[in-house]
Amino acid sequence: MDIAQRTPTPEDLDTLSRQLGRPVRDVVEIGARCVCGNPLVATTAPRLGNGIPFPTTYYLTHPVITSAVSRLEAAGVMTEMTERLSRDPELALAYRGAHEAYLQARSEIGARSGVGDVPEIAGVSAGGMPDRVKCLHVLVGHSLAAGPGVNPLGDEALELIAEWWTRERCYCAGAWDVQGQAPARDLSRHTRTQGLSPEELDAKRAARQDRRPAAEPAGNHELSRNEEDAQ
Ligand SMILES: [Zn+2]
Repeated sequence: MDIAQRTPTPEDLDTLSRQLGRPVRDVVEIGARCVCGNPLVATTAPRLGNGIPFPTTYYLTHPVITSAVSRLEAAGVMTEMTERLSRDPELALAYRGAHEAYLQARSEIGARSGVGDVPEIAGVSAGGMPDRVKCLHVLVGHSLAAGPGVNPLGDEALELIAEWWTRERCYCAGAWDVQGQAPARDLSRHTRTQGLSPEELDAKRAARQDRRPAAEPAGNHELSRNEEDAQ
């Protein structure tokens, strides 16, 4: 996408918040769009506004895609892919290439967004790359942002969800609530943790862990603490 298409508009940020059901923060670009123009992938800078390094650049936001990818994960696709990586050198090499491409793209996003280099996460990508598959949402987000031929396992996962979602058509109608107010920015956790000391933040996180429901919600599941603070 060219820079005009990548730049998030206020409408894009509103749509992202509706898609995720929570306010988004630190989104610097739209990584991929539906044929109708709606965001599919939110691109986050490698360092958040609060200074925390953030390795996961591409976040899948479209509910139709996230739930389709969750179905693959529930069916054991990640284990099967990780096994294949250990016995298929050609696939392993291509997947390592995806890892390198991810790091390169993140570095470029860091430069474009004014964040610059983030040495704390140098060489660290996401989703289990370069030799495991730990989050298919990450790989699919990468494939959608980079286009076909960059992330072999993200591309494969996209083929596997073709009965529920394809690049060629719009699946947005009814996929998220378009009525009423978008989730409010000033209610985000991130805002409420501004200005706290590290000890106070730890205490807040501990309290949050206790409140967390036992079952993980569907969608992007591999959220680090940093990501939770960011999203
Ligand atoms: Zn659409």
